[in-house]
Amino acid sequence: MPLFDANTLLLVIAVFNGFMVLVWLVLARLFRIAPKASLLLAAANLSSLPGLYCPSCALAWPAALGPWMHQLPLLLSLCFLSLGVQRLTRLQFRYGPVLLIGGVTALSMLGLNAAGRSAQAISAFALGASILALFCARDVLQSGRIGRHKLVTFWLLLPYCLLILLLLAQASAFLWFPNATHWFVRGQVSNLIASWTQLFISLCIGIGLVGVLVGRLVLRITHMTLRDPLTDTLNRRAIASALRPLQAQVERGQVHSLVMIDVDHFKSINSNYGHAGGDAALLHLVSLLRANMRAVDQLGRLGGEEFCLLLPHTSLADACRVAERMAQAVRSQTLQWGEQSIPMTASFGVARCIAGDPGGEQSMARADAQLYRAKAAGRDRVCAEAEDDSDAVSASNFQQPAKAVSP
Ligand code: GH3
Ligand code: MG
Ligand code: MG
Repeated sequence: MPLFDANTLLLVIAVFNGFMVLVWLVLARLFRIAPKASLLLAAANLSSLPGLYCPSCALAWPAALGPWMHQLPLLLSLCFLSLGVQRLTRLQFRYGPVLLIGGVTALSMLGLNAAGRSAQAISAFALGASILALFCARDVLQSGRIGRHKLVTFWLLLPYCLLILLLLAQASAFLWFPNATHWFVRGQVSNLIASWTQLFISLCIGIGLVGVLVGRLVLRITHMTLRDPLTDTLNRRAIASALRPLQAQVERGQVHSLVMIDVDHFKSINSNYGHAGGDAALLHLVSLLRANMRAVDQLGRLGGEEFCLLLPHTSLADACRVAERMAQAVRSQTLQWGEQSIPMTASFGVARCIAGDPGGEQSMARADAQLYRAKAAGRDRVCAEAEDDSDAVSASNFQQPAKAVSP
């Protein structure tokens, strides 16, 4: 047997698909990574195996089933692939259209084959399969629009586009030249090209989908290391690293500010409404703060019920106005938690980022000192350092209309 004849290539595809079945099963069962998508993709690879028509090997189909009926498992494989890609790309999961296309195609193939019109049966397969491949391409493209690099999206799309072209070529060939089936007889040049293309497509789809899964995993791990799991705000480490570039810009004359926020009497919220009520209060607070932030502002949870808000390109006076707006929102928008309403207030300390503080620790300490002053002065208020004294901790306060705090 020559090294690269069509049968050998089909065996290579079969071995690769078999290997991918194991990979997806290990990911689904052992590591529990995207288990539903992984199981669907394992099923896609598994069901493709009997579809790899190979007269000289054990995978040969009984002739009694009719010519080209080995394409039925390939159709099933494409249905699973389409559902798996949908799950993996986390788009809206709709199995209806996939089942409809798969079912109609399978019935058409069986009907046409029974009527002795095998060329039309293979056209029906190719048309149905190309629509399923189109579903995959659409999902990959849509998920690519959400932050994936264009080149990566191109390589992920390529095998589906090739598959669609190959299937449409097959559909037209059999539709317009029903006697052309001998072109596709094993060993001929056209068949060898089709087998190479099929191998390329199988490799690209398999590797691409594992790549998507690994990418998703890396994103999730990055997210987990930078985010607070309860409120989904930045954690202390992420806030510290977001503050560093702002401090570097301060050295070059930019003006940035930061605000420390702490819920007042949070212990009593916990004791009156339980820990779940306390958690709901934290989520409520974050939603109010977010509603008063710009897209460039960054909110982080430093621990417990203490938050830090970074306000790039914001003067101290503007930062005080933002903090005041937030204090007013927390004060006035009581949390409705089940049957109960939980009143809340918070205290705010505002400081400017100053030069000569590369890590931003001093800026944070100064905002913290202002927060402490707000607590000492009776809570539910905003305190800020003096506008003209970057070292001042207690030089002056931001004046609230209702509760002015004097130094
Ligand atoms: P103050 O007005 O002086 O800030 O009083 P406080 O009661 O808010 O005092 P403190 O800041 O010391 O209280 C923090 C409490 O927050 C203590 C802790 O039990 C609670 N806490 C910390 N983390 C969480 C959390 O993730 N969920 C809930 N529900 N409570 C938390
Ligand atoms: Mg507190
Ligand atoms: Mg606290």
